[in-house]
Amino acid sequence: CGIVGYVGHRSALDVVLDGLRRLEYRGYDSAGVAVVADGGLAVERKAGRLANLEARLDEVGRESFAGTVGMGHTRWATHGAPIDRNSHPHRDATGRVAVVHNGIIENFVALRAELEAAGVEMASDTDSETVAHLVAFAYGDGETKGDLPASVRLVARRLEGAFTLVVTHADEPDQVVAARRSSPLVVGVGEGEHFVASDVSAFIEHTREAVELGQDQMVVITRDGYDVTDFVGEAAQAKPFTVNWDL
Ligand code: GLU
Repeated sequence: CGIVGYVGHRSALDVVLDGLRRLEYRGYDSAGVAVVADGGLAVERKAGRLANLEARLDEVGRESFAGTVGMGHTRWATHGAPIDRNSHPHRDATGRVAVVHNGIIENFVALRAELEAAGVEMASDTDSETVAHLVAFAYGDGETKGDLPASVRLVARRLEGAFTLVVTHADEPDQVVAARRSSPLVVGVGEGEHFVASDVSAFIEHTREAVELGQDQMVVITRDGYDVTDFVGEAAQAKPFTVNWDL
């Protein structure tokens, strides 16, 4: 139901948790975070309130989340009960790709069957998890090998339904990739930091310079900039605006 992603110079965990708190008003049943840390991805997710996730983070120790690139999610379950293992982020089998998703992947049954035929064991009952495996396969092999934006584009073209997706990869520690169709996605433009979110409230305490992505657009954010394309990789125009209302 709510999404926030961050690449910058602050603690990604703090930025993401603050962002999720700002999105709480939309309602949700579970929450989770992923931070690129220590050459891998640190991930925690919990059913229930954000407070449950925060308690869990205190339990495991927040040191393992020391990193400046990350993302978070509040879930409003559509496929799979609101329990820990269905909470986002979802990962591929190696745990190096993580995905958060708002919306519904309408063709997930066919995608899941294809993945299972390829030997993937699904770890959740969600439609969203398929995306993590598909991105991992695309990044691992073929024309999109080693190219995260191209991998996400390839997968986005195969998805039916509505999605705001944010993807992080442990092998791409300086970028976050996000894509949208029939579900909102905005970029927050800061100095030496960029945000993606389902809603500007997630980042307006940090920046009021925003960019609204259009239908079937994708963005790569880094510390220094952002790059918007369509799902075939052509440069695309997104709509810059300034948030002029108060919190
Ligand atoms: N369809 C996904 C799920 O049930 C995402 C739901 C959402 O938009 O939060 O996990």
